[in-house]
Amino acid sequence: MIPVLIPSLPETDAIVPYLRRIDEAHIYSNYGPLTNEFTVRLCRFISDRGGGPVHAALTSSGTTAIELALRYRSAGRPGRTCILPSWTFIATAHAVANVGLTPYFADIDPETLALTPEIAARALRGNPGDVAAVIVVSPCGAPIDIAAWEAFEAEHGVPVVFDAAAATLNLEHVGAQPLCVSLHATKAFGIGEGGAIITSDAAMVEALTAMTGFGFSAGSRVSQMRGGNYRISEYAAAVGLAVLDELDPRIARLRAASLAYVAGFERFGVSMQAGFGHEWLTMTANAIFEPSVVSAVTAGFDAAGIQWRRWYGDGCHAHPTFAACAHDDLAATRGVAETAIGVPFFPTITPDQIAQVCGCAERVMSAR
Ligand SMILES: *Cc1c(COP(=O)(O)O)cnc(C)c1O
Repeated sequence: MIPVLIPSLPETDAIVPYLRRIDEAHIYSNYGPLTNEFTVRLCRFISDRGGGPVHAALTSSGTTAIELALRYRSAGRPGRTCILPSWTFIATAHAVANVGLTPYFADIDPETLALTPEIAARALRGNPGDVAAVIVVSPCGAPIDIAAWEAFEAEHGVPVVFDAAAATLNLEHVGAQPLCVSLHATKAFGIGEGGAIITSDAAMVEALTAMTGFGFSAGSRVSQMRGGNYRISEYAAAVGLAVLDELDPRIARLRAASLAYVAGFERFGVSMQAGFGHEWLTMTANAIFEPSVVSAVTAGFDAAGIQWRRWYGDGCHAHPTFAACAHDDLAATRGVAETAIGVPFFPTITPDQIAQVCGCAERVMSAR
């Protein structure tokens, strides 16, 4: 059996030096020294790639990162609707509902698999005066065209929040619009549980950080705004620091495995998600099959003990919880949901396992 994903975090010995620092400091949460160091190093990792100022508020999960960013950006806005693509992990829809907004599920571009400003503008016209915010999802970690969304916000005056949950390794441009990432164990940059809101806007991060701790402003016990407990503990930050220590070899492994997949599938005319491996990295690797072969290929994977997954299922609109929400025709979404197949992918996957997956698909397709 080849599993579709094997998460791997730093092993115990790599974390122990940080745990000893916790023992000595007797600080276990509330923006302690390890959390602060992790925040600084995470921001440096991102700004080293994209340049410009990068600030981050750490959160308890990717979902709560989206919730806080959305609550902050939609505050005082008229309207109760939030536009988001249906083709995303269901967490995005829960985050919208958890801040009291109603999801409106929009279609995606069939090439980039992302929401576009044109599709969002059409959804705005369909919900006149009622849109509080737009969430743009980084599809399975692919980079988002941030400049296009800055232009969208400038033109329409509707705040944009990015669900870049799986894109922590791929943030090349950080502007003021908040990028919400997940640090869940299954993501390419995972620490177990955690999240972050990343932006060039220092004042936004100050407010969001206060919201993660009951709305207290730095160093005070006076609540200045609505919030809650969305912090990470020093133990989570210890794992995060160990992840950063090992990040370069991890990235090299992910890139090598990604490029092996791209080459393995290319030989018989199958593409991975656009830019995968060459331009960006993820743990949820999608091969895009023709509609006419996809069910035969997945049956072949099943017969060969190769696990696969439609990472975003049929889209959020297909889940009973959100079935009553309005949506556009979702024409591209239905096709993408059918044909984008998550194949086994993880840092320790071997060239032989990748060859087995590609070989299985090739045999099925050539037999037809
Ligand atoms: C993983 C993921 C989330 C949720 O992140 P958690 O840290 O698990 O809360 C949200 N959106 C997308 C697109 C994701 O992939």
